[in-house]
Amino acid sequence: ARKFFVGGNWKCNGTSDEVKKIITTLNEAQVPGEDVVVLSPPFVFLAVVKGLLRPDFHVAAQNCWVRKGGAFTGEVSAEMLVNLGIPWVILGHSERRQLLNESNEFVADKVAYALSQGLKVIACIGETLEQREAGITLNVVAEQTKAIAAKISNWDNVVLAYEPVWAIGTGKVATPAQAQEVHADLRKWIHEHVSADVAASVRIIYGGSVNGGNSKELAGQPDLDGFLVGGASLKPEFIDIINSAT
Ligand code: 13P
Repeated sequence: ARKFFVGGNWKCNGTSDEVKKIITTLNEAQVPGEDVVVLSPPFVFLAVVKGLLRPDFHVAAQNCWVRKGGAFTGEVSAEMLVNLGIPWVILGHSERRQLLNESNEFVADKVAYALSQGLKVIACIGETLEQREAGITLNVVAEQTKAIAAKISNWDNVVLAYEPVWAIGTGKVATPAQAQEVHADLRKWIHEHVSADVAASVRIIYGGSVNGGNSKELAGQPDLDGFLVGGASLKPEFIDIINSAT
């Protein structure tokens, strides 16, 4: 069985006081089990969050450089994250794909390099509203996944986050049926183009306007293995989302 996974992507939010408050709340929460929750604060808060956070919760960076570090002003390398004891990194978020023009190839190179350094990766994929309306959702997520599949051979440390762009930060959540359809189609694509083993074991989590009110029904979908939560991960309702599979 695939273990339920809940990521909290704080994006570019938070002050040091807010960070401490969020961690205090989460540290007191009752949760379903170990290794379910991964929090992703901005780089500057990674060390403090890691230091304050309960040991059964983990941390993720929101990005890293595509190759070995060096003369790349403003970048943070995978080696640095490993050196700091940060186990996870989010790569290919649609905000980076769209606002910073990260291509499928570039994201795939980042995924491959981060894995090679021992990081675990939350790799994000998803279609825009225009692509959905054109009926090419599966083609888009398959192309994004294909670029990654071409560059990695071991999927043990990869979680795929399906985040339809039209659902991110819009309050317009995918219906459980819409999410399940894409997750199942993608799993089938992985079965055919990667392997049956990877298709059965890789976790595909959903992101896009998940909140304490809609997470339970989504979590009941057979191919949905957890969430990547933005806005609601900064609020106490994140605890309800963590507990939505129980
Ligand atoms: P929201 O939950 O704020 O829609 O953001 C989703 C997301 O982008 C998580 O990575």
